[in-house]
Amino acid sequence: MNDRVVNFAAGPATLPLPVLEQVQRDLVSLPGIGASALEVSHRSPWFEDVIGEAEANLRSLLVIPDSHHVVFCQGGASLQFSMVPMNFLRGGDRAAAYVVTGSWSGKALAEAEKEGTARVAWSGKEAGFVRVPTDDELAGALTEPAAYLHVTSNETIHGVEFPTTPAAPAGVPLMADASSDFLSRPVDVAAHGLLYAGAQKNAGPAGVTIAIVRDDLLARIPDGLPTVLDYRTYVTNGSMYNTPPVFAIYVLMLVTRWLTHEVGGLEKQLEHNREKAALVYDAIDGSDGFYRGHADVGSRSLMNLTWRLPSEELERRFVREAADAGLVELKGHRSVGGIRASLYNAMPLAGAQALADFMRTFADAEHVSA
Ligand code: PMP
Repeated sequence: MNDRVVNFAAGPATLPLPVLEQVQRDLVSLPGIGASALEVSHRSPWFEDVIGEAEANLRSLLVIPDSHHVVFCQGGASLQFSMVPMNFLRGGDRAAAYVVTGSWSGKALAEAEKEGTARVAWSGKEAGFVRVPTDDELAGALTEPAAYLHVTSNETIHGVEFPTTPAAPAGVPLMADASSDFLSRPVDVAAHGLLYAGAQKNAGPAGVTIAIVRDDLLARIPDGLPTVLDYRTYVTNGSMYNTPPVFAIYVLMLVTRWLTHEVGGLEKQLEHNREKAALVYDAIDGSDGFYRGHADVGSRSLMNLTWRLPSEELERRFVREAADAGLVELKGHRSVGGIRASLYNAMPLAGAQALADFMRTFADAEHVSA
């Protein structure tokens, strides 16, 4: 037993308990090594195995084709917002196309604009970021050849997610920020030129960012970039040009091992994620309008579920009383307000069930007192 709360934080977020327990056991002294994972050289055979297994697990979980490299960067997904246009827009003669489905894609776009011409292929801003575009809408918007098409597969703040990988026109590489739905479901990696994700939601602790990049794109990178901002540096040096975030990659390796052996892969994980999200969305939809989901049904995120209550006062009380019941971090992001529940891979079904039960009890009490 332990005193852990049910943690709905958006990231850093809840991690699988067996992983935390193993980290705890190994923290002072790794078996056979006699030193902590915090104390071991990145050039040691131990870490070679760790980073090798992390990549192998990612490759098998996501069925990453040989055409794609897996590299581990730092600087979060926010640095990828700059690295993508530095590597693939700077100095070119085509504009980049950005799909803006929420705050994070807006930030990615702003960084691209510093590097070259970036245009908005589609924006959900006017409607309040309640949905993603359809493939037909995207195809209609992408008539000029673009340097690349950038999308955010899941908007962590607004809670809208592409139900499937959006289609990029032939010859236009698809670049995806998958930070908050990485490893939550199978993904067609081959359809991407580049897919990147900060680890701190589904994949591990903060400090490491996974980038999966198609080999032929490397030839487009202009010379003269700062060494650690050039994807080729990571590919050529096995992500060890300089000291990588050893501890974060170690935990990431354990999480991918857990996903592979305990969960049984991403199809299984997707089933669990659907089941968990359905519990909470059903509580929203069955509340007679007391809870109002933010996203349109077809764009609802399985990872970050967002909704409003009839007043901000009720929202504050909801968050407070939920916390008293051990259900924490339910306050929506300050930019949109309301409630946000993040149901990442490591959130157990019982956690989602406890939230759905709490929602019903809270709504019933309000109906009685109203
Ligand atoms: N993109 C998305 C979709 C995110 O959710 C986040 C972080 N919440 C970021 C980018 C920024 O990530 P980082 O803090 O790792 O830079």
